[in-house]
Amino acid sequence: MKLIDTHCHLTFEPLADDVENVLARSRDAGVTGWITVGTDIQQNHKAIELAEKFENMYAAVGFHPHDAKNATDQRLVELRALAQQSQKVVAIGETGLDFHYNYSPQEDQRRDFTEHLKIASELNLPVIIHSRQAFDETMEILEQYGRVKKVVFHCFSGSAEQAKLVLDRGFYISFTGVVTFKNAETTRAAAKIVPLDRLMVETDCPYMSPEPCRKQKVNEPALMLHTAAFIAELKGMDLADFAEAVTATSRAFFGLP
Ligand SMILES: [Zn+2]
Ligand SMILES: [Zn+2]
Repeated sequence: MKLIDTHCHLTFEPLADDVENVLARSRDAGVTGWITVGTDIQQNHKAIELAEKFENMYAAVGFHPHDAKNATDQRLVELRALAQQSQKVVAIGETGLDFHYNYSPQEDQRRDFTEHLKIASELNLPVIIHSRQAFDETMEILEQYGRVKKVVFHCFSGSAEQAKLVLDRGFYISFTGVVTFKNAETTRAAAKIVPLDRLMVETDCPYMSPEPCRKQKVNEPALMLHTAAFIAELKGMDLADFAEAVTATSRAFFGLP
């Protein structure tokens, strides 16, 4: 089995300190590819550096909506340069809107998200969206910048109705361990209706450990196997068939060799 963790933060502590072992455990679990996602200027640099170092590892560069308050024109220039710096950069993100925490003013988040979309469409790169309690506004902004063709809603925790709206626009949906949580009935209903050619899996590690390891404070790519097995069962499928299909979807979406 060759699953791809399409959204992880391998440059975050404590994973960063132990990457070799984290990757060894991941490979043992059948998770053999990784997209490590940047969230600020330092993490973006680290993500590229790490991706350059390991086979089957790729990077996404962007500024988390939490960090939108620090956006400047200069930072966007740097983002554009970073995105073109290495063949290993395969996406812009994570970007979007987080109206749950509101660590940055909503107006700043909207502006910075829009700027990310402009860069992605200019460079013809897919976009990884972080959207929390801001579904309608996220869709609205994506509607206004219709030029971005490849869009994935990462860590999707919305409803089947929202999933349908995302699919109708031609976008993709990625699930974390959240889908395995006891109280995630709504997200499970969504996972059921997303076809495999639009579905991806991720850890979002070091956060969001899936059941039955939810108590494990530090999530890591090896644990994604639980999420994959869970969704496969939800869909009444063999894990191996499920893995093959979602890996093909992930490769096509991110343009991986
Ligand atoms: Zn996120
Ligand atoms: Zn993330």
